[in-house]
Order: sequence, then structure tokens, then C-alpha cells
Amino acid sequence: MLVNVLDFFKNLPAKLCGTCGEEMVEQHDCYTNKCDKCNSL
Ligand SMILES: [Zn+2]
Repeated sequence: MLVNVLDFFKNLPAKLCGTCGEEMVEQHDCYTNKCDKCNSL
């Protein structure tokens, strides 16, 4: 059910940057665990 899948993702905790620990906004590249700042270093 599409609605249940959306609810599942909404309930996930915020993704944190693996480098600086900042909350990350959802990105198209879901394989990275770094925020934009750390990725550009
Ligand atoms: Zn970071």
C-alpha cells in the first residue's frame, strides 16, 4: 500500500551526517552518509 510506505518513511529518524553529525535533508543520492558540506571537502 502506497500510503503505508509513505508513513513508514515519515516515521524514520532524521538521517545524520556520518562526518559532522548534522541532520541531513533527504537527498537524491541516498547512498551517501555525508552532508553537502562534508561531501564537498
Ligand atoms: Zn557533515
